[in-house]
Amino acid sequence: TEELLHRQDKLAAVGQLAAGVAHEIRNPLTSMKGYAEFLQLDEEDPQRREFLDIILDEINRVNNIVEEFMVLAKPKTVELEEKNIVPILRNIVSLLEFEARKRRVKLHFNANNDIVQIECDENRLKQVFLNFIKNGIEAMPDGGDLYVSAEVENNNVEISIKDTGVGIPPEKLQKIGEPFYTTKKEGTGLGLMVSFKIIESHNGKVYIESEQNKGTTFRILLPAKTA
Ligand code: ADP
Ligand code: MG
Repeated sequence: TEELLHRQDKLAAVGQLAAGVAHEIRNPLTSMKGYAEFLQLDEEDPQRREFLDIILDEINRVNNIVEEFMVLAKPKTVELEEKNIVPILRNIVSLLEFEARKRRVKLHFNANNDIVQIECDENRLKQVFLNFIKNGIEAMPDGGDLYVSAEVENNNVEISIKDTGVGIPPEKLQKIGEPFYTTKKEGTGLGLMVSFKIIESHNGKVYIESEQNKGTTFRILLPAKTA
């Protein structure tokens, strides 16, 4: 089990800069998208339609990258509210049910409903869970099982996301969470970096355990709200 957050410090400055740039990119991108969609409306030439499809796909790709960076924009000013983590997690699991089934992945969810409250920014935490669970599904190209659970452990809520996928080779472990590190054709390599940042802003921790061709477990520890 290796803790992952300590490497985030040196990335903070990069993140701030990137978030600023992302902001600037978003407006022209929105306008490019609008005009491309407009041109497509009455385009009858199939070749041109195809080119416009490619343009729109690529705009979407840039948009995804920009959106992931935007989260870094105000890392210390998250809006923390007291919430029960279980419905938040369950919500994300059901959101991904269909996607999982398409890829022959069985989702298992296990949590006690009266788990203690935590101080959190709900939307950002949702983004974190989405990132981890999606990664788990994507790590199982031939299908498999994905286990999501939440339990209280000392003064922490421990959320565990475990897949039976390809695993991560030991020499690649230190790359996990580096910006743009991806092994996927369509990956951005930003999901984990952004997630780590969010977890850090919740005073949480992340641990990873992985074995090649067996699977990977991410454990996220968030401080529980003590009454
Ligand atoms: P992306 O999903 O766009 O590639 P991420 O930051 O979410 O970017 O993940 C970075 C990389 O970490 C992935 O491309 C993959 O190589 C590795 N990774 C993350 N989660 C898992 C997992 N559950 N199993 C195996 N590899 C993983
Ligand atoms: Mg990802």
